Amino acid sequence: MARNAPLEPILIAGGGIGGLSAAIALAQIGYSVRILEQAPKLSEAGAGIQLSPNAVRLLQGWGVAKRLRSRAVAPDRITLFDGTDGKALADLTLGPAIATRYGAPYWVVHRADLQKALLETAGTFDGITVETGFRLVSADNSPAGVRAQSEDGRSAAGAALIGTDGLWSTCREIMGFDDEPRFSGRTAWRTLLPIEDAPPPFSTHATGLWLAPRSHLVHYPVSGGREINIVAIIEDAWHGQEWDVPGDAQYLRDAFRDWADVPRQVLDRTEVWRKWALFDRPALPHWSSGRMTLLGDAAHPMLPFLAQGGAMAIEDAASLARAISNAPDDLPGAFFAYEKMRKNRTRRVQLASRRMARIYHLGGLPAAFRNFALRASPPAWLLYQNDWIYKYVIE
Ligand SMILES: Cc1cc2nc3c(=O)[nH]c(=O)nc-3n(C[C@H](O)[C@H](O)[C@H](O)COP(=O)(O)OP(=O)(O)OC[C@H]3O[C@@H](n4cnc5c(N)ncnc54)[C@H](O)[C@@H]3O)c2cc1C
Repeated sequence: MARNAPLEPILIAGGGIGGLSAAIALAQIGYSVRILEQAPKLSEAGAGIQLSPNAVRLLQGWGVAKRLRSRAVAPDRITLFDGTDGKALADLTLGPAIATRYGAPYWVVHRADLQKALLETAGTFDGITVETGFRLVSADNSPAGVRAQSEDGRSAAGAALIGTDGLWSTCREIMGFDDEPRFSGRTAWRTLLPIEDAPPPFSTHATGLWLAPRSHLVHYPVSGGREINIVAIIEDAWHGQEWDVPGDAQYLRDAFRDWADVPRQVLDRTEVWRKWALFDRPALPHWSSGRMTLLGDAAHPMLPFLAQGGAMAIEDAASLARAISNAPDDLPGAFFAYEKMRKNRTRRVQLASRRMARIYHLGGLPAAFRNFALRASPPAWLLYQNDWIYKYVIE
C-alpha cells in the first residue's frame, strides 16, 4: 500500500548506487518513487567495486544480492605488499570466515553487475519509475511538497526530494551549502585485465594491496573471476571534474618506475586506463531541510581508501527507509531522524578514509615503521580493526 498519498511519489535526484538503493528501500516499505537522472541512460563505469559485509548484508535483505551472486567474487584473502620490493607485508584470510563473523560475505564485483542487480530489483516494484535525461537544476521545497525543475524545462512534483546526485550535488547547492569539493592531490587510474593476461598474484582469487611512497595499487577479480580490476592511485596535480577520463598509460608507467617487477610488468602490458581525480568535502552540520534531504556522496563524499563510499550510500538508504517507516506522517521529522542516525557514522568513515590515504602513501622512515608494524601484527588482529565498519547494524 502506498503510504504517502496524495503527495506521492518521493522524488530521488540521481540514479547511482545511492539513488537506486534508496528507491528499493522506500518501495519495500510501500512508497512510490520517481528517480530523476540526468544521463540519457543509466550506466556505470567499466570498473570494479568492493562490497564489504555491511553493504552486502543490506543487499541480501533487499533481494539484490541473489541477483548479483553468480557474478560476484568472494576473495580468499587480502594480501598487502611492499610495492617497492614486491614482498608480502601481511596476508589476511577472508573466505567463509568473513561471512561467519559478519553475517555476510565480502564481495568484489563489476559496477555494471551491481547496477544491473539494483535495476532488476527496482523493476520488481510497480511503484518505481525512472526518468532519464532529467538534469535537475532547481527545486521548490515547500511545506506542502517539492517541485523539481530540469534544465530542459520539465518539472516533477512529489512529497519529498532526496538528493542522491553525487559529489558535485546540485541538491546540496539548492539546500544552501556553498562549500566546494576539495581536491585530494590524488588521482585514481582504473583498468580491467582479462584473467589470462594477469601474472600471479594478480591472477589469484585474492585482493592485493600494494603500498609505496606517494602511490598505491589495488587489484581484485570481478565478473565471476574472468577479469581483474586494477586501481592505481598516484599523487598528481590533474583535477578534472569529469568522471571517467582516458589516461595516458606511459604517464602512469613513469609514476611506477621505482616499483617492483610484477606490478611494473602488469602496467607495461596495459594500455587502456580511465582516470578520476579524487575529491572529498567537509562534513556538513546537517543535510536535511523541510522536505529535502541528501544521501550518499551528495551528503558525505569520501576518499576511496577504505572502499566505503558506495557502502555508506547503501547504509544511508536503509536508515532513511527505517526513519520514514518510524514517522510516515512526518517526512521532515523523519529526515531529521535519518541524518541524526547517519552523521557520526559517516563522519567517522570520512575521517578514517583520509587517515588511510596518508598511511598508504608514506615514504622513508614512517613507511619502514608501517611495514614493520604490518609484518609484526597478527593477521586476524589487522582484519578485525575494521569490525566497527563491517559489524554496523542500522539503528
Ligand atoms: C576510484 C574509486 C574507487 C571506489 N571504490 C569503492 C569501493 O570499492 N567500495 C565502495 O563502497 N565505494 C567505492 N567508491 C565510492 C563510490 O563509487 C561512491 O561513493 C558511490 O558511487 C556514491 O554513490 P552515489 O549514488 O551517492 O553517487 P554517484 O554514484 O555519483 O551517482 C550520482 C548520480 O546522480 C546523477 N546526477 C548528478 N547530478 C544530477 C542532477 N543535477 N540531476 C539529475 N541527476 C544527477 C549522476 O549522473 C549519477 O547517476 C570508489 C570511488 C572511487 C572514485
